[in-house]
Formats: sequence, C-alpha cells, structure tokens
Amino acid sequence: MGLLSLGTPLDWHESKKLNEHVRDNGITQLINIFKQHARSRNNNRFYWGDEIEYMLVEIDDEARTARLAIDRDYILSDLSDPDKPDSYLKATEKNVSFHPEYGRYMIEATPLKPYDGSSLSDYTYVEENIRDRRIVSQSELPPTIRPLTLTVFPRIGCETFTSPPAKPIGPASQSLFLPDEIINRHARFPTLTANIRKRRGRKVAINLPIYPDINTKLIDDSIPHRDLFSSDEEAFLGASKPGHVYMDSMGFGMGASCLQVTMQASDISEARYLYDSLAPFTPILLSLSAAAPIFKGFLVNQDVRWNVISGAVDDRTFIESDVEPYAGYDFFGGLDVDNQTKEHLINLGGGRGVNGDRVINNYGDTNLKTVDSKPIQKIPKSRYESIDAYLSDRTYSKKDSYFKEEYNDIFSPINKKVYDRLISNNEFDHNLAYHFAHLFIRDPLVIFSERVDQDNSSENDHFENIQSTNWQTLRFKPPALYPEDMTESQLQDKPGWRVEFRPLEIQLTDFENAAYSVFVVLLSKAILKFQPDFYIPISKIDENMEIAHRVDSVLNDKFWFKNGNLCKLENKDFAGYDLSWFDRFVNKGNDTLASENVYVNGYVSNGTMDSVKSRSGSIKGELCNESKYTTDAIINGNHEFPGLIRMIVKMIATELAPDLPQCPDTDSDLARKMLRIQCYLLLISQRASGKIPTIAHWLRSRVLTNPLYKKDSKISDSLAYDLIKDCEKVSDLDGSKDPQLLKDYFGESFASYLCAHTS
Ligand code: GLU
Ligand code: MG
Repeated sequence: MGLLSLGTPLDWHESKKLNEHVRDNGITQLINIFKQHARSRNNNRFYWGDEIEYMLVEIDDEARTARLAIDRDYILSDLSDPDKPDSYLKATEKNVSFHPEYGRYMIEATPLKPYDGSSLSDYTYVEENIRDRRIVSQSELPPTIRPLTLTVFPRIGCETFTSPPAKPIGPASQSLFLPDEIINRHARFPTLTANIRKRRGRKVAINLPIYPDINTKLIDDSIPHRDLFSSDEEAFLGASKPGHVYMDSMGFGMGASCLQVTMQASDISEARYLYDSLAPFTPILLSLSAAAPIFKGFLVNQDVRWNVISGAVDDRTFIESDVEPYAGYDFFGGLDVDNQTKEHLINLGGGRGVNGDRVINNYGDTNLKTVDSKPIQKIPKSRYESIDAYLSDRTYSKKDSYFKEEYNDIFSPINKKVYDRLISNNEFDHNLAYHFAHLFIRDPLVIFSERVDQDNSSENDHFENIQSTNWQTLRFKPPALYPEDMTESQLQDKPGWRVEFRPLEIQLTDFENAAYSVFVVLLSKAILKFQPDFYIPISKIDENMEIAHRVDSVLNDKFWFKNGNLCKLENKDFAGYDLSWFDRFVNKGNDTLASENVYVNGYVSNGTMDSVKSRSGSIKGELCNESKYTTDAIINGNHEFPGLIRMIVKMIATELAPDLPQCPDTDSDLARKMLRIQCYLLLISQRASGKIPTIAHWLRSRVLTNPLYKKDSKISDSLAYDLIKDCEKVSDLDGSKDPQLLKDYFGESFASYLCAHTS
C-alpha cells in the first residue's frame, strides 16, 4: 500500500517542517521522469498483474472462535528472504511475490513476473498463479490458520478479535477499539497511523449506518467511557453519530482487503485514454464486487468497504474539510500557522472563510497559509477517494479526441505552485499538470530521516511519497527514473506507463479473483481496440460511487453511464459475440446459421439476435451525454449499447483467437482455456443480472438466516465463527463438503456448472 523505505520515520512535528522540501524535490523528480520517458517510451507490451490481500485467520473449531492472527507475520519475511531458501524458493519457483500490508495479520501477493496481455494462455494462468499463492502461504502456516480473502473481518474492533489477544491502549492510533498490535511492525505503518491523527488534529471518525432490523437498537453501544488519552472524549464531542457504527482508527479501513489490477500501456497517451475510459467503471465494478456488509460486529446498511478506508486515512483538518471543530479543538489541526493567520480567520468569521468559489477561481490562492507558505484550502475529498479529474485523451493519436474540459466538473483544489512549475515545462499540458498539482495538495505523511536528501536525477522517492499516499480509484503510474546508461532492451523490462484499477473488493475464491482481474484486463484491451467514448462528467461518477455503497445496488439501482447512442459503438457490429461464441468456438460450429461460415466471427450484420437489436434510423434531436442504466444493461447490453461482455468477446475473437486453430477438440488445452474464460465472463454477467448474488448479499443473508442471529444487527463471536467457516468452505471451492453452501453462494445453476468445470 505504498512506498516502504528503510530507516527512521519522523514524527509529524518533525516531518511537517520538511513538507515543502518533499513536494519541491518530488516535482523535480517528476519532471525528470517525464524528461526521461514521456517521449521515448513507446510501443511497450501490454503487461499486467494483480494484487491480492489476505487475512490470516486462526480458526478454533472446539472453542468455536475465529481470530485475526497477529503473530504470524514472520511468514512474510521468510517468503521474501533469499537467505531462507526453503520458503523463498517455494514462492519464486511458483512465480509469486509476497509483500507486507497495513495489518500485521495481512499479507499481499502478486505474480513475480507480470502476465502478457497478448497471450491467451496467461488469462487462465492467472488463476493457477493465484491458487499457488494460497497454497504457498498456507504451507508456511499451521492448518488452523488460514489465509482468507475476506474484504473485512466481521468482528474487527470487538472484544478479543485477535490471536493472541491484545488491548486497545496503543499510542499510535489511540483507538478505543483497535490495539496497535494489529499494525504492521515496519515503522512506517504506526507512524503513518499517528501522523494522520496528528495532522488532522483529532482521530479519524467513520460512521456507518446500522442495518435496521426488528430488534435493533440504533445505537453503537460498544463505545467505552475511558480516560486514557485526551482523544478518548472525541466520541462524545461529535465524532460518533447516532444510529451509526463508530470507528476511530486507520486499521478499520487499511486493515481491509481488496483486489487491484495494474496494466502497462503502450505509451503515455494510451495510458491517459485508458485511465479516462476506465473511470466510469470504477463504481460499477465496486458495486459488482461488493463484499462488506459487516463492520465492528454490526450488520451495516451498506455493502462495500470504500468509504470506510476513505475515512480511515482522512488527514484533513477541520478547516480543510470545512466543518466546525469539536469544542476546544483547533480549526488548523496539526498545521503550522502563525498568529496572523489565526487572526485572519477570525476576521473572516471563524472557519467558514474558506469559500469554495474563491478557491476555485484563484486556484488555491487564499490569504490563509501555513508558515511555509502553503495555502490552506477547502479540500472536498480524503486522500483515499474516487478520482478528481480526467487526464484527457487529446494526445492519443489513434482516434478522435472525445474529452471535453466540461467533464472535469467538480471542485478539485490544486497546489498552484506545483501547477505553475509543471505548466511552464513543455512536457506537461494543462490536464497532466492539473492532475499532479491536485495530488500535491497533500502533505507527506511519513518521511524517513535517512531519505531527506536524494539525488533527483536518479531517485524518485519524494515523488512516490506523495503519489502513493493518494489512494484513488485509479492510479496513473509513471515509470521510475532509470540509469541513463541502460540499454533499450533493459529499459523495456522495466515498468513503463501504467494504470492501476483499485476499487474492487476481494472475492472469497481464487476463481472469482481471477475472473474479476481477467475481466478488468480484457475490458481494457477491448477499450483500446474499439476506442469507445465513455466520458461522463466526473460529478456523475462521484454520484455513482455513492450509489455503489447501497445495499444490493447491483439489483436495485441504476448508474450514470454514457448514453449508449454516443459511445461510438454500434450494436450490429457486436452481434454474435455473446457468451455462446465460446461454445461455437469449441464445438466445431454447431450453429444454425448454415449459409455462411461466420460462427466464430460473430454473425453477419443482418443476423437476428433477440437480445441485441440493431439501432436503426437516424438520431433526432439532441441526445443527453449520459443516462441511467442498470448494471445488467452496462455489462450485458441493451438496445442502445452492446454491453461490455460483447466488446470483450469480440476482442478475444478478433485479437486473441484468430491465429489459433478454430474448432479445437473439445478436450484440448485450448478448448479448456476458452471455456474457463467464458466461465469468468459468465460470473460477471450473472452477477450483473442478479442471478448470482454478490458476496455482500450472500453474507447478509447468511447472517439473517442463522439461528444465532437475534435480529438485532449484532454479529456475536459464535455467529462470526459460523460466517468465517462458511467463507473458509467457499474459499476451498469444494462442492463435496457442503454442496448447498456453494449453491447459495453461486446460485444453483452456476454452482453445478462450476463444479463440473473445476478439476
Ligand atoms: N487494502 C486497501 C483497500 O482495500 C488498499 C491498499 C493498497 O493500496 O494496497 O483498498
Ligand atoms: Mg495492497
């Protein structure tokens, strides 16, 4: 979850003196990166990789308990230490790399070498690689401790949820609920936790609506009256909201798990178009991957983790987030401001002087400044949030430009000094300068004393410091600075211009995690091939993010999406490329369209497909740029839009498959691969149409139907044990143990289909 430097991390009171130093040098490093790579890195291969975050859960069947194991983090050092060949080689021989994460009970795993997006085999190898990660990590653990892919541990923050038990009395988080012993031992993490609190001038405060059931008391009765830290009183000063579950620490968010996918574009312009085109899908895929209906032992009235992490790392001061401070607290939090500034604020009428409009018009030029002259502005979003602005596709030469400045329609403050520096350098156009100038409104959260002075021509830690603590739904990742004497082929092996897709919740099974990763990558490849216009205003994407949090948003809600008539995709061009294309491909064309041999190339354009009507006639009048669609329509298509599945299938048929022998034997390796990819797409298609429940839906119904549940929205220790056991069984994907469970999880017909197709 960010840059891990070795050394001594500085406390906020020391580190804040170096904020401008890090930003200034970080921007110099960024400019050097652009000088080195913006023009010269072209025609890079479409490599990609996925990241999976696990929780180590200790399950005691006799005591009927499930706990987060916080004393097993040594497996991480073993698995990534070449001096421990027994462990290390197990991982590397399977092409797996393990990494630390925020929680001491967490591990993260990625492929060691990236996958090749042009290789069909790699799209099925992913699942094997993901499976190996679980096998390798399990082999380092006793059988009672399982690496589970849970988005949120249901009883995190409740009485005794760790093994061994620990008390919430830690100075780093000062949490009423989470012990500091859950935080990764690497000094970066406790410092990050403490520095967010110190900069903010109070603890983080996350409030989620409690799910209202018939016996539910709409009150979080787990908040203790305590007098250990002065921050203990915050819950009663306004931090905790009635009717909500209250959470007060970074671990509630960064201790959650997700699935991320990073793709390398051919060059910077392609990366910009891809970033922009994926933006509208971030809430849709969040909704489709929803897996988090329980927090701190409460069933909540939402389905995903996103706003929890957003709140968990929200380091904004009262004045920046434009809210009244708690009684006795400072508007400026941990910012260094002089008395003149404080007086200026009072003259402006308290804290309400930071007027949004003025800030927009002046690009952050207010009279409120920190002692090192950084303007203090109203900041609408946390560092962990949906993206603020498109990058623009104007430089992408393969097609007309679709981007319009009016799509960047939300108030997104920038660091004016950074903007001016970048725009005066001819490598940066307005949208790129704006993007980075927005990221650079943030302060560095952790600075290592040994890393204060860097060689800006060969190092880029200062840039990465700010870049990697802007945790947005998408990340635009420039290459690093590489030594000038590297050969062209050495350079090609180093990462280039990349886009990271970050909203997905982690799924319980390796199969699903492979499916979602593959879906995102195939969608990206289809976007690059068909070059659709998916631009809608950023404000609409933000609205969709809120919708995606709702219970069962996949089933009940519609999302803003580009008007299907304006996407630059014609339904008729995608006829025949539904999921049955795979069956035709492997079944020697058992297809009724006998007159022409078109089965693997879709249907001829006058082909009849009930579900896909061709759009006919001219469009009269002005069409709205965006319209509201169900997830089903977006994924599976409707009369205006072919749907993402058809785009993907046509891309596979025309780009990944044409060189392959058509109609292979049904039991051939190629046929098996094709059917596995079909299976991945079917999962996404049926989640979108509601035939397969989301994990959040399944978990909620497991709670509601469990005899231990008292209809009070509480998840007791033994109820949590039952849930974890269910998750464990599902993770093993072993239909023989509990066939009914898999049917509940995947829906009856898909469960049978999957069992029949999984060896
Ligand atoms: N665990 C975080 C999440 O659930 C992501 C941390 C990271 O960026 O690696 O979104
Ligand atoms: Mg991570």
